[in-house]
Amino acid sequence: MIEEDLTRWIACDKCQTAQAMWQIKMVDGELYFCGHHKNKFSEGLDKVAYEMIELNKKEAEVPQLETAE
Ligand SMILES: [Zn+2]
Repeated sequence: MIEEDLTRWIACDKCQTAQAMWQIKMVDGELYFCGHHKNKFSEGLDKVAYEMIELNKKEAEVPQLETAE
């Protein structure tokens, strides 16, 4: 169900108490960080991450994969 996925609460991998705001994709796995820890490790992450996805932005940016017209 799509609804279930949207409401999924992911904890920050570092502090476990904050909700993850970023998904960090690396070649050997992925990490989830809250805004605080994403900023804290951003220098190191820049080197290992190939993609950083901001979570909880569903309303703001909806990618339009298919355009009918
Ligand atoms: Zn955190």
